[in-house]
Amino acid sequence: FVIPDFVALEAAVAGIHDTVKGIEDGKVADYIPQLGRVDPAKFGIALCTVDGQRFAVGDTDSVFCVQSICKPINYCLTLEEHGTELVHRHVGREPSGRGFNELTLNNDGLPHNPMINSGAIMCCSLIRPGWEMADRFDHVAETWRRLAGGGAVGFNNAVYLSERRTADRNFALGYFMREHKSFPAGTELTETLEFYFQCSSIEMDARSLSVVAASLANGGVNPFTGERIFSADTVRKCLSLMSSCGMYDYSGEFAFTIGLPAKSGVSGGLIIVVPGVMGICVWSPRLDALGNSVRGVAFCKELVNRFNFHVYDSF
Ligand code: GLN
Repeated sequence: FVIPDFVALEAAVAGIHDTVKGIEDGKVADYIPQLGRVDPAKFGIALCTVDGQRFAVGDTDSVFCVQSICKPINYCLTLEEHGTELVHRHVGREPSGRGFNELTLNNDGLPHNPMINSGAIMCCSLIRPGWEMADRFDHVAETWRRLAGGGAVGFNNAVYLSERRTADRNFALGYFMREHKSFPAGTELTETLEFYFQCSSIEMDARSLSVVAASLANGGVNPFTGERIFSADTVRKCLSLMSSCGMYDYSGEFAFTIGLPAKSGVSGGLIIVVPGVMGICVWSPRLDALGNSVRGVAFCKELVNRFNFHVYDSF
């Protein structure tokens, strides 16, 4: 087993869950009513190793929307479809040092990276652009199903409708990029934005998301089905950008303190990848000022205090 003493890890994670549960700081996202109504007390941690050992504690079978956690998956899909060179003609790979939805582009007039809104909208424009919208969504949802290895993958239509209704900033980002001719020729802006909102409204529980993260930890192969969903090269690139850009404007600090590729979403979900070892999902809806789950970040700090999972731990 990749984790020889799994029982000790289970006990430690359950212990951290107990400790971190006491933290009630932060605020549930309320820019749309559907997120504002989520029970702030929810808290679940699920993990899955690359050799299929699993553990879950707390609210790990309530579903929530993936929101920004769709960004790394969509980025992988673009790499698989077009290759690195073409994808990065349309999106950069540097941290922006700015908020996730800030109206800003890099010096080439491109979104800074695929992990912020502008870059994620760009990635959506690159996923099966010639296909019908329904088929494009099916393609994304089917990819999530394969990554989750059979775990249920749903869609929250109310979230989608609300996202679309309150999307002024995302539309502004879209027009800003169109003005800079950043999109591939022939991109239909409204469809692209709607596709982005649909991807953000995919929902699943923490258990399934931990398997998605484990498929990334396992170089793109689902640990249970053995199916290869993404190439090792695609996953390496995605994890690199999750390391540098996955935690919004906290990414540098997170890389320093935690040292693991991760991606957070505004619903309070957080996936953490321990490459070659396991995938973890933490869900707790209260967010800090930068938009990351307060308990999610606190969990990560406790975890790396107890185990040498930081990529630069040397013993
Ligand atoms: N859906 C929201 C948006 O696109 C938030 C994305 C996120 O999780 N940060 O603005």
